Amino acid sequence: MRRVIIVGATGSIGRQAIDVVARHADRFSIAGLSAHSDEGGLLAAASRFRGAALCLSSRAPDSGAIAFHGPDGLRSLVRDTEADLVLNAAAGAAGLSVSFDALASGKDLALANKETIVMAGRLAFEAAGEAGRRILPVDSEHSAIFNMIERFGRDAVRGVVITASGGAFRDDPLESLPGKMPADALAHPTWSMGAKITVDSASMANKGLEVIEAARLFGLSGDRIDVVLHPESRVHSFIRTRDGSLYAQMSRPDMRIPILNALAWPESIDESVADMDPCDVFLRFSRPDPARYPLLRTAYEALASGEGATDAYNAANEVAVASFMGGAIRFTDIAVVVSRTLERAYPRTLEGLEAVLAVDGDARRVAASIVKEIA
Ligand code: NAD
Ligand code: MG
Repeated sequence: MRRVIIVGATGSIGRQAIDVVARHADRFSIAGLSAHSDEGGLLAAASRFRGAALCLSSRAPDSGAIAFHGPDGLRSLVRDTEADLVLNAAAGAAGLSVSFDALASGKDLALANKETIVMAGRLAFEAAGEAGRRILPVDSEHSAIFNMIERFGRDAVRGVVITASGGAFRDDPLESLPGKMPADALAHPTWSMGAKITVDSASMANKGLEVIEAARLFGLSGDRIDVVLHPESRVHSFIRTRDGSLYAQMSRPDMRIPILNALAWPESIDESVADMDPCDVFLRFSRPDPARYPLLRTAYEALASGEGATDAYNAANEVAVASFMGGAIRFTDIAVVVSRTLERAYPRTLEGLEAVLAVDGDARRVAASIVKEIA
């Protein structure tokens, strides 16, 4: 029985993870659950599992059933609750400390929070190494690549090809993009996800973050990582092996598959909801248009500049997306804010979490001042 703590239990990934655990109750149990502000959602999730420690990370709860609260409460939940694995499904940079607390307290880390790897991937692997624990990617593309690399061996792999749906505006005329509203960006063609990552899919900042994530997770330079548009979201990524072959992982677009793989690793568990009939699918692949998705190239540039620049890429994009959602800037300004924030010089390497958070804070201030200029 693997005991699991889910951070971000009320979110898109968190709710699907709870479903996975409930469907495999013979394999997994819930040791702890946290949500940021949705107390009702947290209590509803907890009612399905007896004895789970609960945390509301934004404020003091109304219910006496919730033992932990606030940022310190979240740290205690992750560190002090007995468990084998933490699923970090918190949204955004706030998930960083969750990852390091999980590893430092000797737990495996199932990682949906890609920000951890983009901001501090090398440090996270150092922490995992010191603790003798694993980092198991949940992001569907990285789960696919991870599982293929585990089977083929790292030495057989020459590079990877990450697939992208293209997001909500894939087929719209370029001239229409500046006029897109937040509600338009939230209409994703194939995946149902949290708001921020759905906007990032429309701009392909999500793919930019995933290119950086893949580089750090699998030790690949940018020139070994390709991105292709794949509207059907059935191939979740490819690996290129030394003999020139491409291997793909395919499944229905259902995050419960990568979640289950991360929770169960290294075992395989039956999951029949996932069955896919190859006769049902028609697969298309093409190159993403750089004019439509400027944030993709910016991510490669940040990757080439080093750890400070990739940290700043994430921070600037979070500020820009929040500004777009709040109506302060246009959709196409998100890319402008990020690329202008990256015109500053950032350190090539970040030694320690303090340095990571310092660059994050600096980049947020720069991005916010650019937003003010534009707005
Ligand atoms: P979401 O917005 O649906 O849920 C976010 C969760 O995080 C909520 O439970 C919320 O309570 C919690 N949270 C918010 N702010 C927090 C804070 N400051 N401290 C602690 N917890 C906080 O987001 P999501 O779509 O589930 O995405 C979560 C993470 O998983 C993100 O990093 C995202 O990039 C990644 N991811 C999501 C998907 C997907 O299909 N949704 C796929 C791949 C990766
Ligand atoms: Mg993904």
